[in-house]
Amino acid sequence: MEIATQTVQIGLEWDTRTGAVTVPIYQTATFRHPGLGRSTGFDYSRSGNPTRQALEDGIARLEGGARGFAYSSGMAAIANLLLLFKRGDHLVVTEDLYGGTYRLFEKIFNQYDLSFTYVDTSNVEEVRRAIRPETRAVFVESLTNPLLKVADITALSGLCREKGLLCIVDNTFLTPYLLRPFDYGADITVYSATKYLAGHNDTVAGLVAVKDPLLAETVYFHQNSVGAVLGPQDAWLTIRGMKTLSVRLDRQQENALAIARWLQNHSHVAKVHYPGLESHPHHAILNRQARGFGAMISFEVVGPSLVEQLLMRTRLISFAESLGGVETLITFPEIQTHADIQPEIRQRLGINNVLLRLSVGIENLQDLINDLEQAFRS
Ligand SMILES: *Cc1c(COP(=O)(O)O)cnc(C)c1O
Repeated sequence: MEIATQTVQIGLEWDTRTGAVTVPIYQTATFRHPGLGRSTGFDYSRSGNPTRQALEDGIARLEGGARGFAYSSGMAAIANLLLLFKRGDHLVVTEDLYGGTYRLFEKIFNQYDLSFTYVDTSNVEEVRRAIRPETRAVFVESLTNPLLKVADITALSGLCREKGLLCIVDNTFLTPYLLRPFDYGADITVYSATKYLAGHNDTVAGLVAVKDPLLAETVYFHQNSVGAVLGPQDAWLTIRGMKTLSVRLDRQQENALAIARWLQNHSHVAKVHYPGLESHPHHAILNRQARGFGAMISFEVVGPSLVEQLLMRTRLISFAESLGGVETLITFPEIQTHADIQPEIRQRLGINNVLLRLSVGIENLQDLINDLEQAFRS
């Protein structure tokens, strides 16, 4: 079944008693036991809740994995995955990483003696050179933030298999609709479901899918032990959002490509990063492994004064963090999303004082372009 169909099916046949078309919100902490030593399959909502499970089964099916897990945020999901590692272990990580992930690695898990080397994961040889005897995993963003570099998952997972490492993919920017990392050999996927999956800027949620059933048991043990689980209301909202994932993304990508082309020809724009443009260095890789190029664009304006001008004067487009929702948002990565990364690293990566990031929504294309044009002009 196609992903567009599978997303609509999430939770649909859950309630066999009433035939409810959407999975009910099981707002309960605990469940009655039918007898001594017997269980309905649900005992306590940290360990398992039917609404959450409909979502967890849904993401597992979309990815083609053994099992899915829902967490209270994307960061909680990533933190849970780091519990797979022990003191002294080392991970090789995408260098232009989501700022919050970098903070979690460097300011928290570093204290527990995990270490991380940051490289350009779109270059497999750089990844290979960073591997040490104590390396246990490669953690990549399938499409990086904010510079939209592309990792070749097939090549990376091949390297991981050769070296006995886990290949973990943060696939937030593409979602399983555009890329299914397990099809290319990855072991674990992780999502900030807050973004495209839930898709309406109304819920904070995290999802994980694990390909191997044994590894999934361990991840479940950690999820239940730590307890950063997604509540039933938010699980329901995430499912509701996911049902329209394909139509939203189709429209968002169409808008994004047109806006990227428009920006490319704009006299106040110096550089556009969008993998859907044929001029993007990783266009071909993404064309091969994904169904589309996503709807995130970053671009450099010709002078720093234009940054504040655009952020303040766009009317339809909101100046806000986050991404992936139906509303178009604009942000300034250097200050807003990547402030925790050291200035020298930011400069080297190209996260500078003229770089803006757009999360393109589903609005009418001409309205979006008109809004940008008036903000550039005023
Ligand atoms: C937002 C984001 C996260 C963190 O997710 P939250 O839901 O905000 O906790 C992780 N990775 C990427 C790529 C993100 O964009």
